[in-house]
Amino acid sequence: NRKIKIIYICFWVVTCLALVPMYIGNAIANSINLDSILYFAVLVAVPIFSFYEALFVYAVYLVSNLTVLIIYGASISSYVFLCAITVAGFAISYIIQGQYMSIVSKLKEEVNTDYLTKISNRKGGIETMKTVFEMCKFHSKMFAVYMIDIDHFKDYNDKFGHSKGDKVLIEVANSIKQFFYQPTAVVFRMGGEEFTACCSVNSKLDADECAKNLLLAIENLKLEAAYMRVSRYITVSIGYTVYLPGQYPDEYISEKLLVEQADKALYKAKRTGRNVSVCYNDDPTLREMGVVTRSIP
Ligand code: GH3
Ligand code: MG
Ligand code: MG
Repeated sequence: NRKIKIIYICFWVVTCLALVPMYIGNAIANSINLDSILYFAVLVAVPIFSFYEALFVYAVYLVSNLTVLIIYGASISSYVFLCAITVAGFAISYIIQGQYMSIVSKLKEEVNTDYLTKISNRKGGIETMKTVFEMCKFHSKMFAVYMIDIDHFKDYNDKFGHSKGDKVLIEVANSIKQFFYQPTAVVFRMGGEEFTACCSVNSKLDADECAKNLLLAIENLKLEAAYMRVSRYITVSIGYTVYLPGQYPDEYISEKLLVEQADKALYKAKRTGRNVSVCYNDDPTLREMGVVTRSIP
């Protein structure tokens, strides 16, 4: 991207210098330089230059033009015209560039946000998770990944309808988000009625506490369940895994692997009866299920 920008800037500078014969014609004829206006129109309509890049391109234009005007001793009106068009061109392209950048950043944000719950979606979540995990690895900090799935949610939709189901999803998402309030925690909707949360933890015990408290926090929302199969209220099952620095060589562990481990633990939680949390690290049978994709020694 940077390379393309440099090529683009060079293109404009060369164009600017190639216009010199035209400036000479302009200076001699002392008429308004229409090609010059066209040059700025294109520059303004293609708002790819940042403040300093635009400053550079416009400065080259101004200096080369001024030189020609001075050499050929143009009239005052030519100088006024040159200054006016340079300042106006720069100001307009700066304003348009600002608007363009704000649209781009808004789009970027929307691409990474889940439309229904307004928390991060899978794409945005995985990206942030990767960054936080790399940081934890670097600082040898423990890192916990939780997969959270609403229990018997299909029944809820079937009984109360999809729009009520959507409201439950929003409430559960918000409460998970509030639960993991730490600035480095990442919470996102993995898809459907499944959420993922991850954060650095101080100890394995803290990670366990966290899972248990989250189960309680969701049940305490007191959202009426479709049937009393697990509880009177909506509950979730949680599968989680904790990255322990130094346990295995770091090159064997990726955020993708941690998600897979947590997912396997979630299956176990579902089979164990739901509204429970299962930790991958505590359950040797999970490893025998072919959880690891890359073989951990
Ligand atoms: P389990 O306890 O085993 O997880 O059972 P479950 O019914 O929750 O799981 P299952 O995978 O059978 O069903 C998930 C349901 O989640 C099915 C689908 O209707 C619902 N769902 C997925 N996405 C949305 C959504 O955006 N809005 C609503 N209202 N429902 C959704
Ligand atoms: Mg479910
Ligand atoms: Mg599910």
